[in-house]
Amino acid sequence: MPFYIDVIVPLALDQRFTYSITDEERELIEAGMRVAVPFGKRKVYTGIVAHIHAKPPLRYEAKPIEEILDKTPTVSAHQLKLWRWMAGYYLCTEGEILRSALPSALLIESETVIEPHPDFDLTLIDEDQNLNDSEYLILQALQKQSLLKISEITLILDKKAIFPVINAMAEKRLILINQELNRQYKPKLQKYIKLADHYSSEMELPHLLEGLERAKKQKQALLKLLSLKAQTQKPISAKVLKEEAGVSDAVVKALVDKSIFEEYYIKKDRIQYDGDSSPHTITLNAYQTKALEEIEEGFEELPVCLLQGVTSSGKTEIYIKLIEKAVQEGKQVLYLLPEIALTTQLIQRLQDYFGDEVLVYHSKYSVNERVEVYRHILEDTKGKIVIGARSSIFLPFQNLGLVVVDESHESSFKQFDPAPRYHARDTAIVLASLFDSKTLLGTATPSIESFYNVKQGKYAYAQLSRRFGDVVPPKVELVDLKDQQRKHKMIGHFSETLINAIEETLKEGQQVILFQNRRGYSPILECNTCGHAPQCPNCDVSLTYHKHNNTLRCHYCGYHIAMQTKCMACSSTDVTTKGFGTEQIETELNSLFEDKVIKRMDLDTTRGKYAYEKIISSFENREIDILVGTQMLTKGLDFRHVKLVGVMNADSLLNFPDFRAHERSFQLLVQVAGRAGRTAEQGQVLIQTYNPYHRILQQVTTNSYNEMFKEQLDERRHFKYPPLFRMIKITFKSRDLNKLNEASDWLALYYRQIFTTNVLGPEFPGISRIRNEYHKNILIKIPQEQSLAKTKSYVKKGVDKFKSIAQFRSIKVVTNVDPY
Ligand code: ADP
Ligand code: ZN
Ligand code: ZN
Repeated sequence: MPFYIDVIVPLALDQRFTYSITDEERELIEAGMRVAVPFGKRKVYTGIVAHIHAKPPLRYEAKPIEEILDKTPTVSAHQLKLWRWMAGYYLCTEGEILRSALPSALLIESETVIEPHPDFDLTLIDEDQNLNDSEYLILQALQKQSLLKISEITLILDKKAIFPVINAMAEKRLILINQELNRQYKPKLQKYIKLADHYSSEMELPHLLEGLERAKKQKQALLKLLSLKAQTQKPISAKVLKEEAGVSDAVVKALVDKSIFEEYYIKKDRIQYDGDSSPHTITLNAYQTKALEEIEEGFEELPVCLLQGVTSSGKTEIYIKLIEKAVQEGKQVLYLLPEIALTTQLIQRLQDYFGDEVLVYHSKYSVNERVEVYRHILEDTKGKIVIGARSSIFLPFQNLGLVVVDESHESSFKQFDPAPRYHARDTAIVLASLFDSKTLLGTATPSIESFYNVKQGKYAYAQLSRRFGDVVPPKVELVDLKDQQRKHKMIGHFSETLINAIEETLKEGQQVILFQNRRGYSPILECNTCGHAPQCPNCDVSLTYHKHNNTLRCHYCGYHIAMQTKCMACSSTDVTTKGFGTEQIETELNSLFEDKVIKRMDLDTTRGKYAYEKIISSFENREIDILVGTQMLTKGLDFRHVKLVGVMNADSLLNFPDFRAHERSFQLLVQVAGRAGRTAEQGQVLIQTYNPYHRILQQVTTNSYNEMFKEQLDERRHFKYPPLFRMIKITFKSRDLNKLNEASDWLALYYRQIFTTNVLGPEFPGISRIRNEYHKNILIKIPQEQSLAKTKSYVKKGVDKFKSIAQFRSIKVVTNVDPY
């Protein structure tokens, strides 16, 4: 009987593909294994075996697979289940999930290679009059190495369009075009040195040493190797040998060339924790103990518990206790954090306690490191605890016992692009439930939807309302900018109140954090004569002035030009900057506090691999007096000597055009404020604003989460927003504005006919054009009593219909479920 497998291929196609397998392959294949499968004309992809069966496909003839790539499954049954759920819930394909889920090094793809045609005699190319220059160059290269990759051909021909050339050559039977699988994962090999076998007997040694009389360094290396060998049974690495003997690479190489030494390689694990863990005990205080009890009781009834603990209340210690328990039961633990909060500070705290049980998984790791973490989790070989960003929900857990989502209110848990557009917090809860395990959501400022779930009785709840060590919460005050301006008390963007507080703090030898949620010097450069402001030619935004490199830059596409001293429209020299970013604050500070060390932390100063860590550690070591930054500053950092936190302008946060702007402002301001006064002395927070009576700002100063929640919920109900209504957003993108309008109108009409109400748009978003593509959105709101599954299937049907219309083929459509 012939056998078939259904394979998930890493493409946006909404189906699994069926391939045939031989009886022999049937013996070897299991669901979850990777297979190389042919696809389309020439491509080969890594796919995942989702199902093995005996039913041939109806509409096409099953092709055989190329190769089985695994001995044991790379993807677990739990993962396949989670992917299915995600595809259904987020209206994406399993293939798109596969692309995000596996470290790219496990997803080999075929690469086009060429080799000489067997009928063509390569030795004749110098005489062959029918060859053109390109052909000659390629064949000449093939004489030297019998296989060429596309990347290598590009180097030889120095041009882009190589396929016409090689296709023509294939037709003339000069070459063959093939596909070669490109295996990316490379184990890290360490070089070791040993004495060549024929010298291992003692007899040979005196003779050998004599031979090296005139090569002092070589003799030194040899003697060192012998003495190290006498000391240890372990292999001796080339690195250690060179260090110990004080010789260079060349010396070792000379001995290898003389066949006295032999080199060999051993695969080395990249994931190695070489610090010490100092097994210490954590004694929870009374509040923590009570909260832990509440969580554990909550877990007896419900799968999810929300821990609301004010900043610096010691939530991490509670996580540690819960994690310890799960690990003692032999279970794995996932500790999820927003990418940016995944700092060495926190990793260190966990490693201090759990040592090499802790694995870290995030985007700053190389692909090879990611593969190794993936394998450790899959085989449950090393490390029970994964601390990771969003994408670590895709790891192949074997027996997950607990999920902790720290800073669980963070919007960056949602992936916007590309598909799958999933929310890691929500997906993590589903993941935990597949293992019948629990999820703890921790935060000082719960998201409205999580707190709503508590109110609805869906989540359990625990609270920590005191800072650890009885540290008093910071005093939060608002500074009325209008008033300060009227009294001429502003210097640049600083009120007198803020300047005095900074002076005071620095005098006491304490540190200051200043927050401004915009980078660059100024977001707009405007002509005072004609009003013109330079715009990005590709996007619907004005260019931001960056002083440090004297440029005007687009923050959406990266377009930049030199700073203009004259208006580009009327040539007037009377141009001014409007609005301000972190750079301008830094500049003003430098002239206000000339003898202080002032640093800036934003996207522009943290691009290098360790740049972010460097700023944090020098701030920790008090080498910086004032740190200015964007919201990067707010993410769970624990600084000991910050007494004052200043918010330069709260209004830009509040006025953001988004239904969550108020909730987000509250969260952000409370989080920023939480960086102040984390030790004995009370911290101070000053928030500058033109609207001191704004409800949200009042609620921040009094730390009134419950009141904020109640008011926001009323608004959401009134304007039909989550968590009372669910939302699906359909975004259309095209360079052709007319077509975009036509296309989005078509689908909106289709949905209106089905849903009658609650279909909004199509509408241009705030920024209607990015990278020369126009954007337009349709928003579908879903009341609680309306079936989510049915709604989604209609939404999907609409998109599928739309895609089948020929005239709309050039329009991109993106479906985003829970688009917030
Ligand atoms: P949160 O995550 O709630 O903001 P942290 O977990 O960072 O708070 O705790 C604040 C500070 O208090 C940290 O420096 C932490 O080490 C300390 N701390 C909290 N709980 C304990 C405890 N039980 N024993 C000792 N130190 C603690
Ligand atoms: Zn002008
Ligand atoms: Zn742009």
